[in-house]
Amino acid sequence: MASWLIRNATVVTMDEAGTVLPQADVLINGSEIVGLWPSGSGGGAAGPSTSLRVNSGTPALQTEVRADHTITGEGMVMIPGLINAHTHCAMTLLRGYADDMPLMPWLQERIWPLEMKLQEEDVYWGTMLGAAEMIRAGVTCFNDMYHYFEATARAVVDSGIRANVSGVLLGFLPDAEERLERAIAFAKQWREAGDGRLVTMLGPHAPYTCPDHLLEKVIAGAHEAKVGIHIHVSETAREVKDSQQQVGKTPVQRLKDAGLFDARPVLAAHCVHLTDEDIATLVEYQVGISHNPGSNMKLASGVAPIPRLLAAGAVVGLGTDGPASNNNLDMLEEARLAALLHKLHSGDPTVVPARTALEMATRGSARALGLGDRVGQIKVGMKADLALLDFHQPHLFPPHDVISHLAYAARAGDVRTVFINGRPVLMDGKLQGLDEEEIYGQVRARVKRLVS
Ligand SMILES: [Zn+2]
Repeated sequence: MASWLIRNATVVTMDEAGTVLPQADVLINGSEIVGLWPSGSGGGAAGPSTSLRVNSGTPALQTEVRADHTITGEGMVMIPGLINAHTHCAMTLLRGYADDMPLMPWLQERIWPLEMKLQEEDVYWGTMLGAAEMIRAGVTCFNDMYHYFEATARAVVDSGIRANVSGVLLGFLPDAEERLERAIAFAKQWREAGDGRLVTMLGPHAPYTCPDHLLEKVIAGAHEAKVGIHIHVSETAREVKDSQQQVGKTPVQRLKDAGLFDARPVLAAHCVHLTDEDIATLVEYQVGISHNPGSNMKLASGVAPIPRLLAAGAVVGLGTDGPASNNNLDMLEEARLAALLHKLHSGDPTVVPARTALEMATRGSARALGLGDRVGQIKVGMKADLALLDFHQPHLFPPHDVISHLAYAARAGDVRTVFINGRPVLMDGKLQGLDEEEIYGQVRARVKRLVS
């Protein structure tokens, strides 16, 4: 694999210390970031690794650092690739098909009947469409749960994006157990596919769609295959009320008692309606939480207690949920929604500040998905998943505070260049290796069949 040198970018590292380097160079070798130093200082402590060719002696001057390709980051802000902690990517196919409805009728009357008509290749092309959209928005990794997960995995490998993929498991389907067997086999076979970009998990849809006997088998399967679990938890008030009436416990307590939180990692999507005991449990087990403010607002599910979860030490990431309930995969927008929603809801403009919103979209999501040691920060030793945004634009001027601009003023269209696993997947606004017209053609034909 090639080495890349990106020079003179403003680098927002999203590391624990919140380091922002006003002008820095980043060196990529293979799939990793191997050097990061202030422009003009030419290396230093965090400079080029010994695996790279350097002209002679110590790298005292940056001109001595040589890479296969050099690109300029002048006028650009570099961020770690954004991480979408919860979605159903192929639901791009249903974007705009059913809106402005409550969750259960929306699922039961509109979404699930149409999904019954899905074919494997529909999911492949729906995922390719979502991958193109995410790459263009600087999103380098997503966590997915859907039908025909093998097709999702193929699209991840082909598109160059990174993802955690799990098959959706619904207890009411007649072949639920058979699907679970397939999901476990998939989790073993596809583990670390696509040069390690693919991580497999198991995806029981939600406590209310998975009876105890299925849940037990999922948990045993996760331990056997040594994979994590991705599940929707406490999305609506009704879900929590029904659970308390039926089994005398909240969904969080039911999952804890079933042993589900012993799997690693566990990603619980939504967590909107929580008791104090639930919050303590999620913190105790370090369950990854995906906050999905866009979907929660659109479906009027409620407001997740994110400020309380963060204060208690919970692992909180950010997700879009499926594109049928958002309706896009734009994580900059999601970070902005998170920052705004909690201010409005609490009546306190100091909660979820810009930095916190961006942390959730990067390092927080990475930790929630069990990827905290690989992605979510611009740091030597991390995978080279990063995005460069063009800040030389009216809506990002003057540059008082780059963190503020990223959270409150930047948008997906500002992303010009994206690397994933050390490979350029978007270069100066052009997708590398994905043919958008082909994707549109495929999706257009498939959607025509689905809605007919
Ligand atoms: Zn979801």
